[in-house]
Amino acid sequence: MGNKETYSNMGLNSVLAVEDAIDLRSDTVTRPGKGMREAMMMARVGDDVYQEDPTVLALEQQTSRLLGKQAGLFVSSGTQSNLLAMLVHCQRGEEYIAGANYHSFCDEAGGASALGGIVAFPLPVDNTHALSVKQIRSAIKPDDSHYPITRLLCLENTVSGQEQPTAHTNALSDVAHAHELKVHLDGARLMNAAIALSQPVSELAASVDSVSICLSKGLGAPVGSVLVGTDSFIRRARRLRKMLGGGTRQAGVLAACGLYALESNVDRLAEDHANAKHLAEGLGALQQISVHHATNMVFMRLDESQINPLADYLARRNILIGRQQPEVRLVTHLDISAEDINTVVDAISEYFLKNDRG
Ligand SMILES: *Cc1c(COP(=O)(O)O)cnc(C)c1O
Repeated sequence: MGNKETYSNMGLNSVLAVEDAIDLRSDTVTRPGKGMREAMMMARVGDDVYQEDPTVLALEQQTSRLLGKQAGLFVSSGTQSNLLAMLVHCQRGEEYIAGANYHSFCDEAGGASALGGIVAFPLPVDNTHALSVKQIRSAIKPDDSHYPITRLLCLENTVSGQEQPTAHTNALSDVAHAHELKVHLDGARLMNAAIALSQPVSELAASVDSVSICLSKGLGAPVGSVLVGTDSFIRRARRLRKMLGGGTRQAGVLAACGLYALESNVDRLAEDHANAKHLAEGLGALQQISVHHATNMVFMRLDESQINPLADYLARRNILIGRQQPEVRLVTHLDISAEDINTVVDAISEYFLKNDRG
């Protein structure tokens, strides 16, 4: 990956993340609050393998409507959701195109290839993490027995926090469709993109065939993603989900969190974006650090030898950050307040005052 991120050092080794820590490692660390737990408690449930869980059905319907697609499927994770999409869109020996730093290619344990016999064709992205029409046009293989059949374009939005302009998504989809490819959008953080672009999320997804959104990132649910697409696409995805062991029973207790998240936690993503901007401004004022930010993510570059000592220093002050090299990623979310941002900027400033070794 571009950012040389390692997940093995995302954890804290022997130190357990304390509940009141200011945890900027990811927007996946949120814990369900009172309202969400009440929604779980009150959820009407049934056996979802029989498609009789009313809360799961409501979440699937609500999400597909929101995204302007025919049907939805509640799944355990974004990884499962992307895998199902790739398995439905591509047969063995067929190929998908993706950005070389996109999650579907590099952060999903090679599932499409291991489980689906699907060939990946990763392409380098530009400095906004976008692919170009020209790249896609030249990546699509001609009908020749030497080549895999190019079947799918996998896009992502946001990518490393960077929202992707809708006109560009549409242009990429158009070229893919013109060559009879399908387009899947990994929209793990698509709601962040919609807020950043001030557009309804259905507009961001209008030109693609299938979309996956995560409920457990910025939206604050403990578990789950929703995959949406046409009725026949979702019917096939449902069969594959069962095959992968992802059919669950009274999952309404989890779907209730997703419904609550869609209702209560989408508009407030603007606060996370404001907090990230505020954090980037605070850190950008320090001479030892250079930063950039997009939506709810801040990337901080500093002398690599300082990353672990800084992270240790902050951990002792109950502030948790990633340890990625060469850029540390800081992520804002619904358990981070504007006041927390000031605390973090103060602590990092203090670290450099005390520890600056020139
Ligand atoms: C987190 C993430 C996923 C996968 O979600 P999991 O629920 O962690 O499996 C997929 N795509 C992107 C862009 C992500 O950030």
